This record gives sequence, structure tokens and C-alpha cells, in this order.
Amino acid sequence: MANPFKSTAESLKGMGITLKNFFSKPVTVQYPEQVRNLPARVRGRHVLHRYDNGLERCIACMLCSGTCPADAIYIEPAENDPGKPNSPGERFAKVFQVDMLRCIFCGYCQAACPTGAITLENNTALATYTRTSMLYNKQDLLEPVGTATRGAALAWEPTPPPEAKPLIPDFKGVFDGWETTAAAVGRGNLPLEVKEPGAPKPLRKAAPVVPPGDATPKALPGSTIQPADEEGQS
Ligand code: SF4
Ligand code: SF4
Repeated sequence: MANPFKSTAESLKGMGITLKNFFSKPVTVQYPEQVRNLPARVRGRHVLHRYDNGLERCIACMLCSGTCPADAIYIEPAENDPGKPNSPGERFAKVFQVDMLRCIFCGYCQAACPTGAITLENNTALATYTRTSMLYNKQDLLEPVGTATRGAALAWEPTPPPEAKPLIPDFKGVFDGWETTAAAVGRGNLPLEVKEPGAPKPLRKAAPVVPPGDATPKALPGSTIQPADEEGQS
């Protein structure tokens, strides 16, 4: 038989906890009339960023799309018009779409991006009534013209957790490499180094022209692996 004194003591103890919390301030927030301040590192809806000079940071390298475990990012790259480029690289994202129904908000795309072009911001109000409105296109994601922020990248920079890769550091000075390389490392804002006054800016290295017959890979010196012949047999 249960000890009646022990049961009463346990009941009083439980009622004491109820009484203690009865007079404390409620923590419930009347959403959506009231909105809580979320931490800066909350992973919500994506934003595509620009450089201060207005160019898009995204160079359509596809790393975010390739690393996405949910296959939620679709990109169609296009060549930049050198006279009126969209981004400082060779390519820009003509189509950039994130399927929020697939996204698991892991942040891998942000971590993979070499230019700081994509971040997950603390906008979590994504509820909607249709599937198609959960497909966010470039015009929904890209910062408006005249805006250039780093977004949540800054929130991750000061004290990143040990498992996080450092994001794009701020860098002053000139970039002494190729323009496309500057864009690829997120330094599309930097003026390029011009070694002699009046010398043309380096734009991009011309791709080597490979004659069709020479396109077959050659075996490396010392390698025992032979390249496949024309019929695909080794
Ligand atoms: S947050 Fe994760 S799941 Fe969502 S788009 Fe980025 S990589 Fe894909
Ligand atoms: S990783 Fe960055 S630069 Fe590359 S396609 Fe994605 S958003 Fe654009």
C-alpha cells in the first residue's frame, strides 16, 4: 500500500511548482500580431546578395546547387555581356530558383558559396496556400538594386563554430589576379591591379583551343592506366 504521507507530499510539491509559475510572466507570443526577435543565425528564407558596385555576387558556379542535399536549387547560367555584365565573373545566373518545399534549411548552400552570394536569413514567415508560391525565383531572392548587404554571413563570421568553414573575409586593396578569379573568391568589388599606366585590365585567360583529334586524354608518365581508345575499350 502506498504511503499516504509520501503521496500527499508529492502532490503538494507539484502544486507548488504550478503556484510558482502561476504569477510569472507568460512566455507565449501572440503570433502573428507579436513577432519574436529571432537570432541572427536563424536559417530562414534565402537572399541573393550584390556587391557595393551593384553587380550580383553570384557567378553561377553551381556549387550551392551541387552541395544541396535536397536538390532544392535550380540554376541556369548564362555568359555575361562584357559591355553590361550582371556579375564580375564570366557567367551569371540567368535562372536561380529555390524550392522551399524541398529545402531543409541546412545552410550547406551558404557554406559552399565562394562569393558570399547566398545566405539564409531570419525570415521564417513562409506559409502560403499554393505549391507554386513556394518556388522562389531570382527576382524574389535577389537584393533590390541599390542594396548591398552581406546578410547572415556577418553573423557567422565573428565566432563561427569549429565545424564551420570561414566565410568570405573582407579584403582591402587591389586584386592582382584575373577578373574572373576575383569574382570567384568573392572579391568582385576590388579594383584590379594595373601594372603599367594605360595598360589594359586583364579580363580572362583565353581557353586553350584543343583540336578534335587531340581531345583524348593521354596517359600520365609512369601511369599504368591507359586511356580508352575510340571504341571506349582500354
Ligand atoms: S539550405 Fe540546405 S536544403 Fe536548403 S537550399 Fe540550401 S543546401 Fe539546399
Ligand atoms: S555557390 Fe554562390 S556563386 Fe555559386 S551558383 Fe551558388 S550562389 Fe551563385
